[in-house]
Amino acid sequence: MLYLTEPGHLGELFPDEPRYRTDQLTEWLYAHPVLDADAMTNLPLSMREMIRSEHWPFTLDIEQSADKGLTKKWLFRCTDGSPIETVLMGYATRTTLCVSSQVGCAMGCTFCATGQFGFDRHLDAGEIVAQVAYASAYLAETPLPRSPERVTNVVFMGMGEPLANYGNTIESIRRMTDMMGISARSITVSTVGFVPGMRRLIEEPWPVSLAVSLHSTIPEERSKLVPINDRYPITAVIEAAKDYYETKGRRVSLEWTLIAGENDSDEEAIGLARIARQIHAHVNVIPLNPTPLSSDSPPSNDNIRRFIGTLKREGANVTLRDTRGQDIDAACGQLRLRTEG
Ligand code: SAH
Ligand code: SF4
Repeated sequence: MLYLTEPGHLGELFPDEPRYRTDQLTEWLYAHPVLDADAMTNLPLSMREMIRSEHWPFTLDIEQSADKGLTKKWLFRCTDGSPIETVLMGYATRTTLCVSSQVGCAMGCTFCATGQFGFDRHLDAGEIVAQVAYASAYLAETPLPRSPERVTNVVFMGMGEPLANYGNTIESIRRMTDMMGISARSITVSTVGFVPGMRRLIEEPWPVSLAVSLHSTIPEERSKLVPINDRYPITAVIEAAKDYYETKGRRVSLEWTLIAGENDSDEEAIGLARIARQIHAHVNVIPLNPTPLSSDSPPSNDNIRRFIGTLKREGANVTLRDTRGQDIDAACGQLRLRTEG
């Protein structure tokens, strides 16, 4: 399988071809990805045929488009039938790809469609990278309106907890930065607060951006929304985020999915602003995208404004994240939820 194979071992898939063929293939896979093996024009026909029939990483199951063509959502199927969700979002100065790192997720956050599914398996580094390759190949043929014609940013905010699939996440980042021309600073790893993974990430050489999904500052409340809080309590999460900032010099962002009646009080806003000030973090507020398996809903527009207002008054640096592709279920795990009931 092409992307599942270590780039240095690609030759083993084609033992009868000379070495320079695998160098050419590596170019096609990582530097100039294509949607169809036929486009690998400098490879012999027999090799292209074999790539297409035996080694293609996954198939496209569903493609959806929203926000006047600025958002694309894909549901891929791995060779074992596992679903992978990937979302591409165009902006004026960047084209951002949201990738999945696992099939499902074991963390069980109550508001999250992926969490409601439970955990199936880790994605291999190659299956993470293949999402980037697909998007790059797609953009080369069909750029999004008024946005860069290549993937400039990658965020690990699709299905799964990337730091619970540490080795594969790191290997995928290595290939993106070393082989696909994506700068480490433009890659964001989003974590629910998986402390051992955060600690290991501090030791890695790349200045990747870190986003920490906080959702509540009150321990009992956070444990309700984010059960893993019982194992890695918020104090340890904040400590690790602070160390990340101090070691890497990269500002951490705190993600806050805003849910009516759960985490939208003044008390939460004041607590969140205090933490953000303490660790020089930026706050991203994301109004809940409701999922069918939970009765939670986003706050009213007035309450969202009030929450943001309190954060600002308390000195936090805050952005209200746009809810891209809501009409195509672009939040974490939702397209899969619809196709599989
Ligand atoms: N497991 C990682 C990354 C994937 S989730 C993490 O939790 O950070 C990426 C982001 O989507 C997280 O901040 C998560 O809280 C948010 N999210 C999940 N379900 C959501 C929903 N239904 N509405 C809005 N945001 C959601
Ligand atoms: Fe997993 Fe992140 Fe969803 Fe929580 S929010 S269940 S950690 S994917």
